[in-house]
Amino acid sequence: MPTMKAAIVPVTPFEQNCTIIWDDETKKGAVIDPGGDMPRIEGAIAELGVTIEKIIVTHGHVDHICAVADLRDKLNIPVEGPHQADAFLIDNLPTIAANYGMHGARSFTPDRWLIEGDTVEIGGMTFNVLHCPGHSPGSVVFVQKEQRFALVGDVLFRGSVGRTDLAGGDTDTLIASIKDKLLPLGDDVSFICGHGPMSTIGDERESNPFLR
Ligand SMILES: [Zn+2]
Ligand SMILES: [Zn+2]
Repeated sequence: MPTMKAAIVPVTPFEQNCTIIWDDETKKGAVIDPGGDMPRIEGAIAELGVTIEKIIVTHGHVDHICAVADLRDKLNIPVEGPHQADAFLIDNLPTIAANYGMHGARSFTPDRWLIEGDTVEIGGMTFNVLHCPGHSPGSVVFVQKEQRFALVGDVLFRGSVGRTDLAGGDTDTLIASIKDKLLPLGDDVSFICGHGPMSTIGDERESNPFLR
């Protein structure tokens, strides 16, 4: 079995958890949600000595995607995700980013839109794709069953859930995504989220006030 490793690189004024996942045997991996601060991401990749084979995107929010086009062009690698329901966010990225004071962000078209039931390979490890709308309509979650690990973007946080007041957000839809798709993954599944510290499904099922 591959030895999965993960490193978090906080980026953007939103302190977004850009994440690098790789197999420590082959040193091949992916960057998840390169939201900005390209030099910081490139520095982390070099320091870790990982060969980045693709970019994975959990959803189309500005703090998760501002450096996607730059990193894709620099490394000449494909972009996978999110679900196409977030295309309206990605298409309007230059305008949305400028509204947040982040200038020069370029839009992109993912090489592969993802849907529920898809799988993506990261460093030879297979991640299952769950479509979890509510925070944004096209949010996707990536689950590595053998490693008991998930990348959940902004769907679920330690002690909180994703905000639902942005375009296309809906609270009932978000809670249903979490209860129907994430909680059944099992209490022992740990996850990295888009902001803040890691947690486990079990901790959130027991103590997250938004899931009562
Ligand atoms: Zn978000
Ligand atoms: Zn975010």
